[in-house]
Amino acid sequence: MGAIITRFAPSPSGYLHLGHAASAAKAFGFAQDKGGICLLRIEDIDTTRCKPEFEQAIYEDLAWLGFTWPSPVRRQTDHLDEYANVINALRDKGLVYRCFKSRKELEADGTHPIVDTGLEQDLIASGKAFAWRLSLERTHKHLGDIYDKLTFLDHGQEVRARPDLLGDVILARKDIGTSYHVACCYDDYMQGVTDIVRGVDLLESTHIHRLLQELMGWPVPRYHHHALLVGTDGKRYSKTDKSLAIRAMRQSGATPNIILAQAKQLG
Ligand code: GLU
Repeated sequence: MGAIITRFAPSPSGYLHLGHAASAAKAFGFAQDKGGICLLRIEDIDTTRCKPEFEQAIYEDLAWLGFTWPSPVRRQTDHLDEYANVINALRDKGLVYRCFKSRKELEADGTHPIVDTGLEQDLIASGKAFAWRLSLERTHKHLGDIYDKLTFLDHGQEVRARPDLLGDVILARKDIGTSYHVACCYDDYMQGVTDIVRGVDLLESTHIHRLLQELMGWPVPRYHHHALLVGTDGKRYSKTDKSLAIRAMRQSGATPNIILAQAKQLG
């Protein structure tokens, strides 16, 4: 087996909290156990929410927890042109369409109709906002039988990919120009990531990622989704819970060991 490469890929849209520390411990720990390396990647495509001070805090908090990572750190906003090329490649295959419906409109009627070219031109001219979505119907036609046979490994178990779980996902928003799905899969490919250790909250995304990997001819990493740390109330930790921010815990006297011990609870 070749060298193991994992990654920890936080978004600098808030301070890292206990749940992130546990997830980081899983990803860095996996690499360490296998004699591999764990990369750090900054997923900052959402420039409306991400801030330089949060990015700086990620470096400080992870270093304080005792993690080390190779330089340079990949920052997604440095690669927006490359993500645009991926979306163009999918558009050239005829698999992507403009969706003019707002989230509210979609909730009301639940469909993303592909509008005909004439109407589309009118809507573009009227300045109506749109997102680029991946058409599962066209993708299914494009891949034929392969579409129904895609699999990935999660903890070594073969899982049949179900891209339909998330429907026609957004590949690019008008204001952002890319999406988590495109940027993440492209980067995992570019960075040679062999093993993805991340929370089970992203399992549905993995089903779509497997499809993108197939469409783009990218290798399929092994997946290891882990359980999420939950509070005593059974709820997931979130960035809005300020008392669980690593830096707040540090200020109130917690040590890295106390924080990392929590990670051991994860399955
Ligand atoms: N950036 C994502 C997050 O903060 C994680 C992406 C991943 O691990 O694939 O939840």
